[in-house]
Amino acid sequence: MEHLDDQQIKEDDRNYVLHSWSKQKDVHPKIIKKAQGIFFWDETGKRFYDMCSQLVYLNVGHNHPKLMEAFKHIGEIPLSAPGFATESKAELAHKIIEVAPKNMAKVFFANGGADSNDHAVKIARMYSGRYKIFSRYRSYHGATFGAGNLSGENRRFTVEPGLPGFIKFETPYLYRESIAFDSEEAAAAFYLDRLNSQILYEGPESIAAIFMESIPGSNGVLIPPKGYMEGVRELCTKYGILMICDEVMAGFGRTGKMFAVEHFGIEPDMMTFAKGVTCGYSPLGGVIVSKQIADYFDDHVLMTGLTYSGHTVSTQIGCATLDVYKEEHLIDHAAAMGDVLAERLDKLKRFASVGEVRCIGLFAAVELVKDKETKEPLIAYGMDFGRDKVGLMKKFVGMLMAQGFYTYSHESSVMIAPPLIITEAEINEAMDRFEAALTQFEKEVLF
Ligand code: PLP
Repeated sequence: MEHLDDQQIKEDDRNYVLHSWSKQKDVHPKIIKKAQGIFFWDETGKRFYDMCSQLVYLNVGHNHPKLMEAFKHIGEIPLSAPGFATESKAELAHKIIEVAPKNMAKVFFANGGADSNDHAVKIARMYSGRYKIFSRYRSYHGATFGAGNLSGENRRFTVEPGLPGFIKFETPYLYRESIAFDSEEAAAAFYLDRLNSQILYEGPESIAAIFMESIPGSNGVLIPPKGYMEGVRELCTKYGILMICDEVMAGFGRTGKMFAVEHFGIEPDMMTFAKGVTCGYSPLGGVIVSKQIADYFDDHVLMTGLTYSGHTVSTQIGCATLDVYKEEHLIDHAAAMGDVLAERLDKLKRFASVGEVRCIGLFAAVELVKDKETKEPLIAYGMDFGRDKVGLMKKFVGMLMAQGFYTYSHESSVMIAPPLIITEAEINEAMDRFEAALTQFEKEVLF
């Protein structure tokens, strides 16, 4: 490959690359010149705390020696079609089943999060013989046509008019609920009762699956109230509906547990995963299915497939990644560092623009408001992608970047999800920078 200087890279990028979810003229990408652990450096030599793990996938941090080493051992057979058995595909599937909920039995490998969700929908329909799929508002399941139809926020409007049979229900969002509940359990009961009615009105015998992010991530880390996920499990069992949990963002340690469903003690019928399985060192995703579903396909054709299902390079990187989680006790570390982060986030409540902070493990969001009393959101929900019309959030994220705090926002929430290897000192340093940016934002822009 010819080596381009930074100016040439930017020029070719501008001339030849289409960037996601953006007006192309607004895209001015940085170049990562060096990266180590929780840090990366841009072309000007400026250092950034990677406080969103790129796109919430880099759990083991940049340039991890074990993963860099794994690339050197790819071997002489770096590929084989999905019909062949390979050591890394077999080993990774086995390792995933070992850490998944007890009822899980087999893995179908895909390329990333969205296509994993597409395949889960197909598997649910094949297995159940039913066609309707429930999923939630305030969810994101990916940008492919199927996953776009599952998603319940404005990115789904790109696949409208949606597919028949995809039904939306509400995600519990207590901060923005008009009813004040006495307890989390009371809130859970309210949302479960509404879901039960919706199931009855849609006809349970036509519903193949209820699809949900175990903890919705990019829509603002919306932690379910106590008893809610357990209640959805009960409804699914009662009506013979499959429960499918999307663990693409929340899985592999992000929340301080290997999978987020462990917080609720539930066993879904299927789980989808991607991001943290390889930490993005190579693309990989997949669907984990229960023993009952796995057994069904002993005698029925699994009518789906992908050219790169279980690709040798990605599954080798996946095996090395799962070893890192274990050897470095990263899941326990994430839980411990989550407590440190939660304490720092709690202190943000003194800021006039902080409506709510939500945190579980190293998965957190800070929701900003124009007015704490009225809870008027910083950014109004909108169908178009120019919803931050005044550029308020853009300004705040710009100020964070100037402080060397790299992250992204969605509507009024700012994501905080650093690599799981972050230390207590680094969390404090990064959060000092966050507070400095917020102080500046409130003074210069908001109030
Ligand atoms: N599901 C969830 C919960 C996600 O957060 C994402 C991406 O952020 C996806 C699915 C889609 O994954 P991908 O972009 O790898 O297709």
